Amino acid sequence: MIDTGIYIHIPFCFRKCSYCDFYSMPPIPGLINEYVGELKREIILNSQKHRDKRIDTIYLGGGTPSILDIKDLETILSVIYSNYSCQIKEATIEVNPCSSKNIDKYKDIGINRISIGVQSLDDKVLKVLARSHTPNDALQALENASKYFDNISADFILGVTDSSDINTLFEKPYIVKNILKHISAYILKIEKGTPLRKKAQIGEYKPLDDDELAKAYQNAYQAFQENEFYRYEISNFAKKGYECLHNLKYWNMSPYLGFGVNAHSFVDGKRYHNKKSLNNYLKGEHSGTGKQVYQRTDEFTETIMLALRTAQGLDIKKLNKNFQIDFLTEYKPKLEKLKDYLIISDGFLRIKDEFFLVQNSITARILY
Ligand code: SF4
Repeated sequence: MIDTGIYIHIPFCFRKCSYCDFYSMPPIPGLINEYVGELKREIILNSQKHRDKRIDTIYLGGGTPSILDIKDLETILSVIYSNYSCQIKEATIEVNPCSSKNIDKYKDIGINRISIGVQSLDDKVLKVLARSHTPNDALQALENASKYFDNISADFILGVTDSSDINTLFEKPYIVKNILKHISAYILKIEKGTPLRKKAQIGEYKPLDDDELAKAYQNAYQAFQENEFYRYEISNFAKKGYECLHNLKYWNMSPYLGFGVNAHSFVDGKRYHNKKSLNNYLKGEHSGTGKQVYQRTDEFTETIMLALRTAQGLDIKKLNKNFQIDFLTEYKPKLEKLKDYLIISDGFLRIKDEFFLVQNSITARILY
C-alpha cells in the first residue's frame, strides 16, 4: 500500500481579502449543498482507481472550510473513510477566526489538527489585508481551539506595514508558549488583479521594499527560533514533532489526491488538477470523471527544487537510486561554485540557514 494524502478544497469565503488571488466565492447555501454533493461523487469515483493507496493525511483547505456545517464536513470525511483504506495520522482543517464556532465538534468527526488563519494580531495590518476578523477574534479562536486540540497551527503574513509586524504575536507569550505548535509565515506578495495591488498602484498602500521584506523574514525567523519553533521549510516553523505531515508530502514528492474545484493532485508519478471553474466542476468536469487537466512533470527538477526548500534538504542516495545518476559527480562543478551557500553532510544536500531566503536562485543555479 502507498501512503497517500487527500486534500479537499472548499472555495467559499465570506469576503475577499485584499491580497488574495485564490479562486473563491461567497457561500450561498444551495450552492454549498450542490458542491458537497459533487465532492462526494468525485471522491467515490476516484476510489476505484486507487485501491493500492492508504490514506494517512487529510487536509481540508480553501477558501474557508470552516464555513461548512459540521454535517457537511462529517459527510465528506465519512465518504473518505468508507471508500478508501485509511490509517489517518493527521487530519487538518483550516479555520477562519470569524467562522470558528464548530471548533468543539471537529474532534468528533476525526479531525486532530487545527490551522487558524490569524495573519496578524495587529489591527492596522488586518485592515490593510481586509481580513474579516479582529485580533481579538483570532485570540479567542486560538484559546478555544486549545481546549480541544493539542496540534494547533496559525498562518501569519510578514512585511505588511513594517518589518516587525510579527512582534504583536510575541507580545502574547501564553499563545506562543502554550497554544501554538506550528506557524506558517509567508512574506506578503502583492498579486496581480488584487485590490491591494490597485491600492499600491494609486499610492494608497506603500509596499515594503526587498530589503525591508528580508528584514521582516529574518526578524520572524529569529523570534521563532528563540521560542523553539524550528524552521523545517522556508515558510514553516514547528515545535519538534509538530511538522505538518500533509504539507511534507508536497515537498517530499509523496503522493496526494486533491478533490474539489481547482484542486491539484500528484499521484502515480503524474500531476493534474481540476479546472478553476465552479460551473464546470458542478457539471462533473473533474478527476472523478477523467476530465482533469494534466500537467507536464519534470520529476528530477521538482524533486531537487522542493527538497531544497526544506531544512532536511535533498536525500542524495534516494535521488541517485530513483533517477539512476551519481548526483555529486555529475553536478560537481556547480556544487563547487556554490559551496559557500551549501552544506553536504550525512548524505543530504542543504542550503545554509543564512541563505534560505534566496533559496530559489541558489537552486536555479544548481539546476540550470
Ligand atoms: S479567507 Fe483566505 S481564501 Fe478567502 S479571500 Fe481571504 S485569503 Fe483568500
